[in-house]
Amino acid sequence: MKISVIGSGYVGLVTGICLAEMGNDIIFVDKDEDKINNINNLIPPIYEKKLKELMTKNKNKFYATNNYEEAILNTEITFICVGTPPKPDGSIDLEYIKSASRNVGEALLEKDDFHTVVVKSTVIPGTTENIVKPLIEKTSKKIAFKDFGLSVNPEFLREGNAINDFMSPDRIVVGTHDDKTKHILDRLYRPFNCPKLFTDIKTAEMIKYVSNAFLATKISFANEIGNVCKKLNIDSYIVFRGVGLDHRINPSFFKAGIGFGGSCFPKDVKALIKKAEELGEDPKILKSVIEVNEKQPLKMIELLRKYISNLTGKKIGVLGLAFKPDTDDIRESRAIPIVKYLLKEGAKVVAYDPKAMNNFSNIFPQVEYVDSAKDVIAKSDVILIVTDWKEFEELDYSGKIVIDGRRIEKAMKEAKIYEGVCW
Ligand code: NAD
Repeated sequence: MKISVIGSGYVGLVTGICLAEMGNDIIFVDKDEDKINNINNLIPPIYEKKLKELMTKNKNKFYATNNYEEAILNTEITFICVGTPPKPDGSIDLEYIKSASRNVGEALLEKDDFHTVVVKSTVIPGTTENIVKPLIEKTSKKIAFKDFGLSVNPEFLREGNAINDFMSPDRIVVGTHDDKTKHILDRLYRPFNCPKLFTDIKTAEMIKYVSNAFLATKISFANEIGNVCKKLNIDSYIVFRGVGLDHRINPSFFKAGIGFGGSCFPKDVKALIKKAEELGEDPKILKSVIEVNEKQPLKMIELLRKYISNLTGKKIGVLGLAFKPDTDDIRESRAIPIVKYLLKEGAKVVAYDPKAMNNFSNIFPQVEYVDSAKDVIAKSDVILIVTDWKEFEELDYSGKIVIDGRRIEKAMKEAKIYEGVCW
């Protein structure tokens, strides 16, 4: 099928390249000229495993442009994958969605054939029907579900494993209103062998928020219990192994540590809180999830202070800056509050991350970025492990003081002094 993808970031690019790999022809649209040039020169603008190989392999099946009309007129389906960042009050900022909807509508004005628009960005329930639909209808002078199809298809991929997640999803959720759109998306996703759930539009929007809210809750719960375990001198990992063996519970996401970051969990939980409040509800659990998560990185500082009470002039090594391993994404990374605190206290921060140092140096130019994890160990008085990159499992930690936020087994065994955040 011929598909256009509006917004070529983590979700849009992965979606388009994976759909190209499945045999479809893709036109990416972005407003960022550097991104467009990089994609056309087969340079992935983000770091994601296997992405470059798939781009190279499918180079004749996609290109990128800033021209909406060209993209819409030459394709039959359009995925909207632009960002939905948080506003300062936590509610969802729909500016990119609105501008993409207007542009799609203007391009549709020129098109006679039926066209299917699919919202893949994470949007709060009601957005597609109350904001996207009227904007496209107004600018295209066409009627939704009759002249063009409209659907919501939330994305569940995880950065760091995005290609595998897209290609082998646990499920595909599609919210539709008209049979024609349902049929088109059913055809597109036919090669995927996983449960497919067709719902109405706002239910599909809600499924995405509830999935993220539940996973975030599981992490904050693990961290809260982990903090108690630490005080009791109990290893929370063994506790959660025992708990997770209950088939009603499931062991994944019980990794206690320094909390969740990234572009999705914090913003999606906050947006759901705002929406609930707007509706007159008081979502106490969700508020606590955020509160626990915001305090959790500072547990590392508490432990650090046990060994170094005055941080002024001390060399503190930070291993890992990305919000999780296998990505260069630092949005809401737990490294941000930790490094901010260390710098405020006058410490000298020496840091290394295999992929995220460029992004991190844009906000923290004052950190000393070194070429390898070994250099962090050699140059620091104390080492903080903030992201669990696999290569940190291979370092020599002997003779060092290590405060571990992610449970690196080798550090646990070798360090002279070792403190795990929740174990
Ligand atoms: P991103 O910031 O990496 O990418 C968004 C892209 O959209 C950028 O390249 C930007 O230049 C482009 N853009 C913005 N406005 C545009 C416009 N009007 N026209 C054309 N291009 C425009 O964002 P992302 O991480 O890919 O997230 C996109 C959406 O997917 C968000 O709603 C997010 O919540 C959701 N999501 C993200 C993930 C994830 O792991 N990143 C997972 C699932 C869902």
